[in-house]
Amino acid sequence: MESWMNVIRHFTILNLIDILIVTFVLYRLLLLIRGTRAVQLLKGVIVILTATAISSVLHLDELNWLLNKIITIGLFAIPVVFQPELRRALEQLGRGGFFSLAFGNANTEDLHQTIVEVVKASQVLAKMKIGALIIIERSTGLTEYIETGTLIEGIISSELLINTFIPNTPLHDGAVIVRRNRVVSAGCFLPLTENRNLDKKLGTRHRAALGVTEQSDCVAVVVSEETGRVSLAVDGVLNVGLEENTLYEMLQSLLVPKRSGRLHFLNRKAES
Ligand code: ATP
Ligand code: MG
Repeated sequence: MESWMNVIRHFTILNLIDILIVTFVLYRLLLLIRGTRAVQLLKGVIVILTATAISSVLHLDELNWLLNKIITIGLFAIPVVFQPELRRALEQLGRGGFFSLAFGNANTEDLHQTIVEVVKASQVLAKMKIGALIIIERSTGLTEYIETGTLIEGIISSELLINTFIPNTPLHDGAVIVRRNRVVSAGCFLPLTENRNLDKKLGTRHRAALGVTEQSDCVAVVVSEETGRVSLAVDGVLNVGLEENTLYEMLQSLLVPKRSGRLHFLNRKAES
């Protein structure tokens, strides 16, 4: 009791700030590794650490010895096996991504432009029955998927998006990835969902849209080449056959911070 009182007595505002900073850093690290192979690694590490603690408490000495050896080897193996992920994380840190993502730096004007152009392009592509898959990044970095395609780094426009998906052109196959108001990459390969309860009619384009949204917090807009329907996937859920206004409003509520949403809705009313 006495010692707890001591702890509380010495708990200063600096300790609180310290804890908040550590919590924030851990949260950012988790966001950084979400959707990467490192998540599996983290689960494995948690299992091994738990098993080590249990074996120690129960005095299972041989098992404890073995697990300790695995941890020691693992400490050397992790930097080697995860070298690409570590490099990417450090690069993101260097570019300031660690903090900019945290403070939602994406300018709402940029996001508004992205939403308008994506909606416009999806309507044109749908009318022409041209298949398309547009991924809009949110807080989880999509660099590992961006690197599977061809870098574009162009300011977003409906024309650029439409052009990219014209059949039989070099970049039409795969997904386009959008970051803020830029088309970063085209022809990207995404993970397919492993959900077995899906409609058998859904092909790989829609499965890729679901897959990437299960692995990260991004938003995927799909135009079906077969039906001309526009769908939106988020968090592994597909909203099929959306009208233009519904798509616009869903994107708005998913991408734009709440306080500026209404402003842009009014702007759009004024524009149309
Ligand atoms: P649609 O309704 O347009 O026919 P679908 O869901 O039936 O779509 P498919 O007909 O299988 O899907 O679409 C194939 C196209 O989907 C490919 O040509 C490619 O552009 C895209 N695609 C397939 N797999 C992936 C993937 N893993 N990552 C990104 N794009 C993919
Ligand atoms: Mg198909």
